[in-house]
Amino acid sequence: MQNNPNTTLITPTAPVATATHGGRAKCLQRLVRLDLPVPRTVALSFEAVHEIAEGRLPDIEAILNQFDASALLCVRPSSEDPDWGGPGAVLNIGMNDARYVELSDKMGAEAAAALYLRFVHNFAIHVARLDPDVFDDIEESGREGLRLALRAYEEETDESFPQDRGEQLSAVLRSMARAWEGTSARLLRQAKGAPADAGLGLVVQEMIPGVGQGECGSGVLQLVDPVTGQPQITGRYLSQSQGRDALGEGVAALYLEKDPRGRSLEEVAPEAFAALKDHAALMRRKLREEMQVEFVIENGHVHILDGVRVPRSARAAVRIAVRLAEDGIIPPQEAVMRVDPHSLNELLHRQVHPDAKRDVLTTGIAASPGAATGKIVFTSAEAQASAARGEACILVRSETAPEDVRGMHAAVAVLTEKGGMTSHAAVIGRGMGLPCIVGASEMRFQTKKEHLVAPDGRVFKAGDVLTIDGTSGQVLAGEPEMLEAALDDCFQTLMRWADAERDIGIRANADTPADAQVARNFDAQGIGLCRTEHMFFEPGRLTVMREMIFAQTSSGRAAVLARLLPMQREDFVQLFRIMEGQPVCIRLFDPPLHEFLPTTRSGQRELAEALGLPVSDVERRVAAMREYNPMLGLRGVRLGVTVPEIYDMQARAIFEATLEASEEGAPVVPEVMIPLVSAKREVELVKARIDAVASAVSSERGKTFDYRLGVMVETPRACLRADEIAPHTAFLSFGTNDLTQMTYGLSRDDAGRFMSAYVQQGVFAEDPFHVLDADGVGELLKLGAERGRQAKPGLTLSVCGEHGGNPESIGICRALGFDYVSCSPFRVPVARLSAAQLAISAKLGG
Ligand code: PEP
Ligand code: MG
Repeated sequence: MQNNPNTTLITPTAPVATATHGGRAKCLQRLVRLDLPVPRTVALSFEAVHEIAEGRLPDIEAILNQFDASALLCVRPSSEDPDWGGPGAVLNIGMNDARYVELSDKMGAEAAAALYLRFVHNFAIHVARLDPDVFDDIEESGREGLRLALRAYEEETDESFPQDRGEQLSAVLRSMARAWEGTSARLLRQAKGAPADAGLGLVVQEMIPGVGQGECGSGVLQLVDPVTGQPQITGRYLSQSQGRDALGEGVAALYLEKDPRGRSLEEVAPEAFAALKDHAALMRRKLREEMQVEFVIENGHVHILDGVRVPRSARAAVRIAVRLAEDGIIPPQEAVMRVDPHSLNELLHRQVHPDAKRDVLTTGIAASPGAATGKIVFTSAEAQASAARGEACILVRSETAPEDVRGMHAAVAVLTEKGGMTSHAAVIGRGMGLPCIVGASEMRFQTKKEHLVAPDGRVFKAGDVLTIDGTSGQVLAGEPEMLEAALDDCFQTLMRWADAERDIGIRANADTPADAQVARNFDAQGIGLCRTEHMFFEPGRLTVMREMIFAQTSSGRAAVLARLLPMQREDFVQLFRIMEGQPVCIRLFDPPLHEFLPTTRSGQRELAEALGLPVSDVERRVAAMREYNPMLGLRGVRLGVTVPEIYDMQARAIFEATLEASEEGAPVVPEVMIPLVSAKREVELVKARIDAVASAVSSERGKTFDYRLGVMVETPRACLRADEIAPHTAFLSFGTNDLTQMTYGLSRDDAGRFMSAYVQQGVFAEDPFHVLDADGVGELLKLGAERGRQAKPGLTLSVCGEHGGNPESIGICRALGFDYVSCSPFRVPVARLSAAQLAISAKLGG
């Protein structure tokens, strides 16, 4: 058998590998190599299991010959990545009427009956596929329970319970192999990131019963708390038990360490406990991982059945990786590689401030931690449209399905009526670090009518604002004060190590002082994009803005802009102060002006009142400004060229704020960015005016300052003509949102409606607004970067579209030699870690 890698006894030198036999088989081999007391085990490779599913069994006799003729066996799954799951273990194979009699003499009739009964149950449900309720009426345990269970089995199947160990094992192997190939198992593991054709290995292991004379039992032990990652012996042990019984709800499990609350394994079997602790520490050191030890105690002796990575929260993952490195078990680079960047979201999300007033509508199941506020949307398509508009939204569904994943990506939080901790929304929400509440069944979800009715009768409609507190499970009305994420010492250490490896800068997109503060807290290396237009939507400013839009003459416009100037200046002073000593890139006004005008009749009437104009005038002007294709219309630099007073005002506000903020702190070097450029002449015209404003401010104030002027490259033409644009600028920042929109001819605001269908049918591998399209948009980035740098060596290059926070997209930017990426503040740590992992992989030649 040793010559057959497909069914091999696990020895220190057996040909067992994770890629062919799965993680469990490989781990068992490592434990065997450490000389730990592991029961005899045979590993079946992925190939062997696949053949079994197809009806070709391996040599069962040869497998059985590896074990004592009287040994009971168990079969457990061994997928490549333990997180991909697999069919449940089947224990006590080999139990039959004869073994039952023998074992009754040895360990007592009760214990022997319990072993047999467990096997009959398992076999009936998982192998013979009987309905579990077949056994519902059996209340007896022990010998009588066993007799009734065997009878129920025979009645249901019209066959007697198989007595031959080989026949039992064959049937178990066949059913586990087929279960893995089934559609639902396939979908489940694909949702966890497994490839469609992922293999399953199986291990056949000799059972150590865990029941019988002396101290017998089973349990699990680990050296850390799986939620916090803090060093602490945790786990459970249950006398006279098997498998994972000790973890069952309501069982009278013992504590492991001495504990004032009750009996502990340390007291009941001190030597076994000490041995276990030693074994766990050895496993940590040699397997270079925090391991959960699955063990059995047989008459006071410890056997180790298995070791699995301690399941862990994101917070614990960081602490575990950092402690392993601090203890010299793994190098810091490996600690950096071990933390999934996406998982950081779970640590990073803000929480509702403990002192905030809470208007609690209901409490559901707290399925994914963190809190977020947004406008209600009832469909995934609306969520995507809302995200494309830059509006935070809460996805409210009766329950979610795989086709909602894209909508969940677009939402800031999810609320569902149905489901539990392991339902789709909960699992996916946790995976994405998205605050999520499921099972909020006290609310009425009238999703068709787009109504959400709270238990107190309040009705919430699409667009109303809710806060989801995924940490407590509370659904709150409105927008309570939030508390920024607490970043503990281990997180900071990990980030420090990441930054030491990283070779691409990470900035944040921040429009408000609050955003800037988050960016600063997350150690962003400056602001890469401040979208100034958001500042004009604030209540006191909107009317002034509208007056400016309605001004008939350049001088009239300038007069209104003079009122907006101090407001803008104050915005910038705040940003500069928060970001002291770091670059702040301010993008000049970008959207079409009519976005600021009222669309409803009542809104237009109000505006007419405010401006002292007849309503008909307002209506006419609004109608005149309407565009068929506003995203391709009068916006961005086109406004700068045709209505230059707006950019003049913004430039003045930026420069005056620069001087003001630099009075107290380190000098600020502002960066001024021109959006939506497609032609060199646009840059020449705008640059001339901005330079003029800078000189004017400088001479008025009698002070000099530096600034950098850059161009946002977000039209395909700007990429193609980067060589003639670059000489006029200090930097090019690729706006990959618009660039993706224009490269594909795909509306950012409307693509959500058919994106799922496109991805499902494989037209796009991924939503190109989410993951940068390497082939098309990436090609334009490459051209633009090459042409720009050729014309102007040393030109700073960056990406500031949403892709800047996406790990795969950061890889593309890094490969193109970009200086930095800029992403939303909460994604900064994710980007820092991803960038470090890319750099480390590159160093390792990966
Ligand atoms: C972009 O287009 O990529 C960009 C960053 O600008 P906005 O999303 O504001 O259009
Ligand atoms: Mg843009």
